[in-house]
This record gives sequence, structure tokens and C-alpha cells, in this order.
Amino acid sequence: MSNRQGILYVVATPIGNLGDFSERARRTLAEADWIAAEDTRHTRKLLAHFGIHTPLSSLHAHNEARRVPELLARLRGGGCGALVSDAGTPLIRDPGYLLVRAAAEAGIRVSPVPGPCAAIAALSVSGLPADRFRFEGFLPARQAARRERLHALKSAQATLVFYESAHRIVQALEDLVAVLGAGRPVVVARELTKRHETVLRGGAAEVLARIRGDPEQRLGEFVLLVGAAPAPDAGTIPDPIRDLLRLTLEELPPRRAAALVSDFSGLPRNRLYELALALRKSAEDE
Ligand code: SAM
Repeated sequence: MSNRQGILYVVATPIGNLGDFSERARRTLAEADWIAAEDTRHTRKLLAHFGIHTPLSSLHAHNEARRVPELLARLRGGGCGALVSDAGTPLIRDPGYLLVRAAAEAGIRVSPVPGPCAAIAALSVSGLPADRFRFEGFLPARQAARRERLHALKSAQATLVFYESAHRIVQALEDLVAVLGAGRPVVVARELTKRHETVLRGGAAEVLARIRGDPEQRLGEFVLLVGAAPAPDAGTIPDPIRDLLRLTLEELPPRRAAALVSDFSGLPRNRLYELALALRKSAEDE
């Protein structure tokens, strides 16, 4: 039964340069029984360019929940479908999650045809560490919520990756300077793979000044990347852990208190033991 089911292909499309449309993506879209697209008019132009005549239907943020049962029924019936978004990789801040989840839960094979993705393209040229990164999609549109989100991310030990629009790039950078500091490493990757591709790197305030000073740098599509927070000094014990150790010392001897708090916090046992002895001594001196 299951081998008569269809396959859902999740197909990446170019983020600006048609030369990035892979041969496998072209063949998959040409051979699929149907294509579900975020914006059919947009995708029709891509298909026309490559001479693909597969029937198109729409699957966007506002109709996805409604359309999933019908597409699932087609897959169950043995048809092969392809999912695309306007640009880049579907689901990456684009529709498709509900369909992919439903297909996976129904035991239907979901297969990627990987390709362009603005976040990954930007990360690959940013010059920031890419071994650990955190993709955050778009920052909130309102300043208070945006600053709150940045506060929550301030200490993240990973490169931060945001999508940003032309009309908010300056405000986003202003808030970055205010919340994360003028010197935090920032990269603004603009119009990747297109004619006016630019990658600006520097401290947050420096990148903001360059974008403020050049109207050209405020046009197009943007990925904003932020360097990770500096790693905390292994010798520094954060205040809440210090308080916990102080409380624990009221009940336990220093060695056991240090071991317990080390297990809880992951901080080195010997550092906590030294601190426990110092706290005990200062309590005795008082
Ligand atoms: N799914 C897409 C992907 O894989 O990259 C992203 C879709 S998201 C709705 C669109 C955002 O991606 C844009 O607002 C912009 O922040 C970023 N973006 C898309 N194309 C870009 C490009 N060529 N250069 C820089 N950023 C781009």
C-alpha cells in the first residue's frame, strides 16, 4: 500500500540569480504531477523561463491549513507533488510547514531538493563563526518588542541570523547598537546573488553609520547577522549561582555545597569550592 503513495518534493528556488536554479530542481518541477506555490504568478514566471508546464496551485500562509487535506489526498493517491516558495528554501520563514508535517505524519515520503537559502548564503560569506548559529527570522516590527527580543538574545553563544526589510534595516541596527552595544560584530548581507550584492562587516555602530551615509545601502533585501556574545569568563560565578551557594552553605559543609551547586549549574567544582570557603570565612568574620 505504502509504496503506491506519492512523494512530496520540497524544492529550493533562486533568491535572485536564475543561474542558481539546479538541474535537479528543474527536472523535479518538470516531472511532478503538481506544484504548490506560495504565489502562483511569481512561480509561473520561473516555470516559463525554464519551459516547465506542470499545473500550479497556491499554498500560502492564509490558505495552507485549508489546502493540506486535498494535497495530502493527492499524495496518498500516488501523485508526486512539489512545494516551492517565492524564493529560496520553502519553510525557512516561508509557508509549507503544515503540509510537510501532515505528509510526514501520514507516512508519505518527503524529499528535499536543496538549493538557495538567504540565511545560509549570508552566513557562508559573513566571516562570523558558522559552527553554531541561531536563525531568528524577522525581528518584531514594533520597537519595544524588537528591543525586548534583542535583550533576550543578548547573551546567546551563537551567531544570530535575522531577515530584515529595507524599510526597517536602519531601526534594527539602531536597536542593536542600543541593546547589544556599539562594538558588537555585525554583518549586513544585501541583495545576495544579485547585481548590487554587498556585504558590510564591522562593529554595530560602524555598519549603521555606513548604511545611514549611503542611501544605496538601504535598498533591496537584507540578512542581518550578529556575532555571538563573548563567552563568560570560566572563573566568573554569576550572581544567582553565588546566592544559591550561600544558601546551600547554611545547610551543608563547603565541599558538599560546592558539589551540589556544581551539578546544578555545570560550573567547575573547584571554583565553587574556593568560593564556598571564601563565603564561609567572610560569614565567620562578620
Ligand atoms: N525562504 C527564503 C530563503 O530560503 O531564504 C526566505 C524567505 S523570507 C520571506 C524573505 C527574506 O529573506 C527577505 O525579506 C530577506 O530578508 C531575505 N532574502 C531573500 N532573498 C535575499 C537576497 N537575495 N539577499 C539578501 N536577503 C534575502
